[in-house]
Amino acid sequence: MAYTASEDRYSDMLYNRCGKSGLKLPALSLGLWHNFGGSDSFENGRELVRKAFDAGITHFDLANNYGPPPGSAEETFGRILKHDLAAYRDELIVATKAGYRMWPGPYGERGSRKSMLSSLDQSLKRLGMEYVDIYYSHRYDAETPLEETMQALDQAVRQGKALYVGISNYGAEQTKKAVDILRSLRTPCLIHQMHYSMYERSPEGALQQTLAEAGVGSIAYSPLARGLLTDRYLKSIPADSRAAGNSVFLNASDITEEKLGKSRRLNELAEERGQTLAQMAIAWVLRQGRVTSALVGVSRAEQLADVIGSLKRMDFGAEELERIERILSE
Ligand code: NDP
Repeated sequence: MAYTASEDRYSDMLYNRCGKSGLKLPALSLGLWHNFGGSDSFENGRELVRKAFDAGITHFDLANNYGPPPGSAEETFGRILKHDLAAYRDELIVATKAGYRMWPGPYGERGSRKSMLSSLDQSLKRLGMEYVDIYYSHRYDAETPLEETMQALDQAVRQGKALYVGISNYGAEQTKKAVDILRSLRTPCLIHQMHYSMYERSPEGALQQTLAEAGVGSIAYSPLARGLLTDRYLKSIPADSRAAGNSVFLNASDITEEKLGKSRRLNELAEERGQTLAQMAIAWVLRQGRVTSALVGVSRAEQLADVIGSLKRMDFGAEELERIERILSE
């Protein structure tokens, strides 16, 4: 059936300014790393994207290699865009990235100008788009001069193939250098995409300070620790969960008793706050404006509805924050 977006789509979502740029991002963004590949149900992915957009989630995050097979998540999103969202293109912020291995040979990964710009052309074809809103260097490449990678991002903007550029998985020092180079090229770094959750605290300190000083926004990926900071694994490992599947990033051995013990105690606190653990985990990464947006993945519509519910209770008292720290450090 033809899709018409909900008229209320902008009534409940929060939009945060991305660093010192003019761009606002939804507090919640949807990632297409899992559940949108060629081997996943197209109709399920389509329902998730439509429901997300209906709830004011304007930002969709991709990368050249998301699938499986690599590239197929961009194709899926391209199909959804064509069928359902074409009329809403100017209401969408679509991001893609290059840096990890995508095709054979020396140009199919890392940060050379050759790799970055060829990959962007491939992504645009798969997406069926003329430009993406944000183009990222997916990882720092010590083999390529940073100037070359940043010049490639700058060129993508000058060619009209990207509106903004960002970096992902760069350390604090690498970030500072990248931001300075991009500034000298007059294509400011919009955003840093970082792994950040109650279980992954490495961005705190030097990286977050560098970004704040430079006026660069940030988006926290895997804020639910890939499902560990939800009720998914509190009792057992469900057969239809990521940990039971083929993911190299979350498998049964990651679901340790130590982690589960913490997740259960955090879940008790979430219940006291009147929310689910997933909702509390999202509110926590967004607390006190620490990050511009929480970048979640969902495998089904109920999960999406649950994470959207996090916006109802975002505040934390000092005692609650201390209790979380105690649980995490036990
Ligand atoms: P999350 O930490 O949000 O984990 C998502 C998983 O958690 C879902 O697949 C689902 O597991 C489970 N889940 C989600 N919501 C709920 C809920 N309400 N109740 C119970 N379980 C729930 O993030 P991802 O690891 O999926 O990453 C999100 C996005 O971040 C990616 O799609 C990608 O865009 C980006 N990313 C970027 C990286 C980078 O290097 N820049 C690296 C990794 C991710 P299940 O599938 O088992 O149902």
